[in-house]
Amino acid sequence: MTYSYSQISQYLACPRRYRHRYLDGWQEKDTRAAMLFGRAFEQALRAYFLREDAAAALFREWAASQDQPLHYSNGGSWDRMLQQGIQLLDRFCQDDRIRIRQPRRNLQIKFTRPVSGTNDFVAYVDAIGKFDGTRCLIEWKTTSSRYPEEPDGLLALDPQLVCYSWITGIAEVAQVVFVRKRLVEVQYLHTTITDEQRAEFSQLVTDTIARIESAQFLPHSGIRFPQNPCSTCPYVGLCLGKQELVEIDLVKRPGAENLGWLDELAY
Ligand code: SF4
Repeated sequence: MTYSYSQISQYLACPRRYRHRYLDGWQEKDTRAAMLFGRAFEQALRAYFLREDAAAALFREWAASQDQPLHYSNGGSWDRMLQQGIQLLDRFCQDDRIRIRQPRRNLQIKFTRPVSGTNDFVAYVDAIGKFDGTRCLIEWKTTSSRYPEEPDGLLALDPQLVCYSWITGIAEVAQVVFVRKRLVEVQYLHTTITDEQRAEFSQLVTDTIARIESAQFLPHSGIRFPQNPCSTCPYVGLCLGKQELVEIDLVKRPGAENLGWLDELAY
């Protein structure tokens, strides 16, 4: 079995959610504009580091979603997101704080590591390069609102960055956040992940896989109203037995248990 960060985090968020997704094969439909835009934007960044026309790459990739019935949040539209994307690429080029040598090797890098038993853990790291001259593992994010920067050091608690630091052995991590708001902004966040955090994450992976393999899938979303995660969970129709909600949000794909690593490529 090949495990990924997405699988571990889905299980920790709610074991029942893991069962719906990875054992029963229910998958959220790809109708979220923000997610598809993120994937297109990542291709534009790749073009930028390959010294190709990044704006043209963004248009080409995003055009594939133009005629789809997508769900846009916060009053967004296809045109508006394209415009914001081009402005963000301009800002990123002007800032010139990230350098990637040998971009064909150092973008979207696959790392695999053996974990408990015969299992593997796979991760796709967005980039390894230099941020303001320091060698870092780098992650891109596109979002419609700024990431919080307070209290100081918050980024070191980001579980995905801890995971990537664990699998690569790189302590210095940076997150570049492309914020699609009225006046676009690029946030450059940086932190150092400690040896202790990497060791703890390794233990967390081992423990979580043991619970998955002993078939513990009781539902526990964890938090009550008003921040009940069930209210935004794509699997709520399955848990409530409401077929109409299932048909709106989900599609069933057989063999999902072998495709967990694909979630790593979802932006
Ligand atoms: S709706 Fe709630 S209980 Fe059901 S899978 Fe989602 S988070 Fe878990």
